[in-house]
Amino acid sequence: MDFLRPVTWEDALAAKAARPGALPLQGGTDVMVEINFDAVRPEALLDLTRVRELAEWDEADGRLRVGAGVPYARLIAELGDRLPGLAQAARTVGSPQIRNRGTVGGNLGAASPAGDGHPPLLAAGAVIEVESEARGVRMIPADGFFRGVKRNALEPDELIRAFWIVPAPGPQYFAKIGTRNAMVIAVCSFAVALHPDERRVGTGVGSAAPTPRRAPAAEEFAAAELDWDGRGPLSPAAARRFGELVAGAAAPIDDVRGTAAYRGHALAVLARRALTWAWNDHRAEGKEAV
Ligand SMILES: Cc1cc2nc3c(=O)[nH]c(=O)nc-3n(C[C@H](O)[C@H](O)[C@H](O)COP(=O)(O)OP(=O)(O)OC[C@H]3O[C@@H](n4cnc5c(N)ncnc54)[C@H](O)[C@@H]3O)c2cc1C
Repeated sequence: MDFLRPVTWEDALAAKAARPGALPLQGGTDVMVEINFDAVRPEALLDLTRVRELAEWDEADGRLRVGAGVPYARLIAELGDRLPGLAQAARTVGSPQIRNRGTVGGNLGAASPAGDGHPPLLAAGAVIEVESEARGVRMIPADGFFRGVKRNALEPDELIRAFWIVPAPGPQYFAKIGTRNAMVIAVCSFAVALHPDERRVGTGVGSAAPTPRRAPAAEEFAAAELDWDGRGPLSPAAARRFGELVAGAAAPIDDVRGTAAYRGHALAVLARRALTWAWNDHRAEGKEAV
C-alpha cells in the first residue's frame, strides 16, 4: 500500500486526480479501524494531516469556513460559542482521544447515517466545499451531500476542503440517544436550529434512515406555529406534534442498537424536548434584551 503525503492543498488535489483509488486520511479514527479489521485495503493512503489549510478556519461575509481537518476538540474550544449545536454534537463524539484526532471532514467523508456531525450541519443549513483538480470547487448543501448508507456526493477525484456555516442566529440543540453515556454510536439523534431572522426552523435527524436527513414537514409546522413576534410560549400540543412530524420523516430499521419502533418513539421525544429548549432560550433572550 502506497502512502502519499502532500503538504499543500494543490498537491493533495493532484495526488487524488492521479490516484482516484487513494483513500484520504485525516484523523484516521474511521480509516485506521477499517484497515485494522481488513474491511478496506486501498491501493494507497492519501495522508492529509500535513496540509495546513485544512486545519484552519476563518470568517468571511458573515459565514464561517471551517477546514475539513479541524478536530472536534478545537471546534468545541474555538467555535463552541458560535456553533453551539455542532459543538454539543462534537462533545458526544467518542472520547477525548477521538475528539483530538477526529474531524467533521472525516465524519462527512465516512457519511455514516449515525455520524453525529451531520444533524447539526443539516439544521444549520451548512454547505460543503469540495474540490477536484480537473473541475475546481463545488459547493454542496448538506442536505444534498448524503446519498446512501455511507455514500456521499464526492466524485472519485474530489476532496472535502471545508464546510461553510452561519454563526448561530438563534438557539441550537443536539440530542442523542445511546446505549450508554459515552463512546457510543447513536441509536438516534436530532438537531434543531432556530433562525429567528428568517422565521425558520432547521432540523437534522441522525441514525434513523439510510442517510442523515431533514424533517421538512416538521420545519414548516414549527415555523408557522411559533409566535415569532410576541415570543409567546410553545404549547405542549404543538411541541408534541412537532415530535410526531420529525418521527414521521425518519425511516428507521431494527438493528443491534435498537428497534425501528423504539427509534421512532425516541426521536419524537428528542425533537419535542429540543424544540422546547430552543424556544424557551429564544424567549429568555427576548426578555433579557428588553
Ligand atoms: C472509539 C471510536 C468512537 C467513535 N465515536 C463516534 C461518535 O460518537 N460519533 C461519531 O459520529 N463518530 C464516532 N466515531 C467515528 C469517527 O471518529 C468519526 O466519524 C470522525 O469524525 C472521523 O474523522 P477522522 O478525521 O478521523 O476521519 P478519517 O478516519 O481520517 O476519515 C474518515 C472517512 O473520510 C474520508 N476523508 C477524510 N478526510 C477527507 C477529505 N478531506 N476529503 C474526502 N474524504 C475524506 C476518509 O477517506 C474516510 O473514508 C468513533 C470512532 C472510534 C474509533
